[in-house]
Amino acid sequence: MFAQKKTSPNIQCIDALVPRSLIACGKGLLQAQITEEGLCPLRMHIKDGCLNEIEVIQHSKESSLSLLLPRLIEPHAHIDKAFTWKSFPNFSGTYQNALQANLEEQKGRTMQKVRDRAERSMKLSLKNGIRAVRSHVDSFDSSGQQTWEVLKNIKSEWEEFVELQLVALVPLEYWTTKRGKDLARQVSAEGGLLGGVIVPPYHKANLRELLINFFCLANDMGCGIDIHVDETSLTPGGGIREIIYVLEQIDLDIPITCSHLSSMGLLPSNPLKLLAERIASFNINVVALPFTNFWLLARSDKTSPIRRPIAPIKQLQNAGVNVAIGGDNVQDPWYPGGNFDPLSLMAASMAFAQIAPWNRLGLSTFTTGAARIMQLEWDGIIDIGCPADFVLLDADSWAGAMSTPPIRKVMINGHWIETDDLSLKEGFLSHA
Ligand SMILES: [Zn+2]
Repeated sequence: MFAQKKTSPNIQCIDALVPRSLIACGKGLLQAQITEEGLCPLRMHIKDGCLNEIEVIQHSKESSLSLLLPRLIEPHAHIDKAFTWKSFPNFSGTYQNALQANLEEQKGRTMQKVRDRAERSMKLSLKNGIRAVRSHVDSFDSSGQQTWEVLKNIKSEWEEFVELQLVALVPLEYWTTKRGKDLARQVSAEGGLLGGVIVPPYHKANLRELLINFFCLANDMGCGIDIHVDETSLTPGGGIREIIYVLEQIDLDIPITCSHLSSMGLLPSNPLKLLAERIASFNINVVALPFTNFWLLARSDKTSPIRRPIAPIKQLQNAGVNVAIGGDNVQDPWYPGGNFDPLSLMAASMAFAQIAPWNRLGLSTFTTGAARIMQLEWDGIIDIGCPADFVLLDADSWAGAMSTPPIRKVMINGHWIETDDLSLKEGFLSHA
């Protein structure tokens, strides 16, 4: 299946095709061959779990090298509700019915169910080549509190394999209550982020007050923010405009991420450009979520939607905004598909948003851009001293990797990880 068969834990080097846009340096790199898809044949020397030399090699069309990437990132997931579609389906596919089914599901949540869903999510993430997941967590009241406890344990149990970041997802009003403030304190102590939802109708005065409270609370607690904004086809950009209005009034020293920004994509080009520039000026990160947006939004019984609400990824990038693409919901009432597979998401994004992985900015939405949003220690650039933390694909081109989800092997700190048997997490440890 793979060109190189050096699968022992003592591996010293890997020959592979690596995206040129992710390589920082290397002997003779300026003279290196680059395929038409921007891939560079390299020999990567690995020592003590890190890359200690990058060597340019010759690659003939006849020889077959595999495509190697830094392990990828899922910047927006919901592992507490993943895989609930079967019990709580939403056949109409509307946002309202998704919410209704989600609330029903919450009533019958047990902590064992949450644990099972989260473990399955983490196993799939690891197997599919993901090194970090940011998950929003329904954190309302006592069931939310218990869910948070379960996921806190999952986070520490999995830290060796997949970094898990948790975002407390509650209505913005909740952050004004005593319970909300207690939750914020707990989230802060555990290194999590504060979240919320802004969708129409936007009652400006009330929303602005809630946002000021939310931002100030997060700032006081030193917590980053990741908020669901404008997941709608109505009132384009209405929520993000209110966020910017409030940010103009206060000083914050915390990272802000806006997830979705779907309706913004429906704005005419000039207002869109101006808004993108305002977003850039406040260093707001954006996570685009095409699967859930394309499934839920702009629905009508009798027509297929032509204009699709999705974050305007390229316009935002052109304005200087850091953008990532996430998978969002996986087999839950909000979206029946998905599988924590970043390669499938990459392939879908080619069709959804014309994002091509052979373009530097296109690839950054799954690698460096996502790492920046999650403030990961490693940005995903292949450089001397970086961790040997890779996913090796059974594909010798981007087109091959995008045509069908490729078989892949995962390396963590210089060791191939056994991911075939996902029934036991201990199985991974045998090679670690
Ligand atoms: Zn979400």
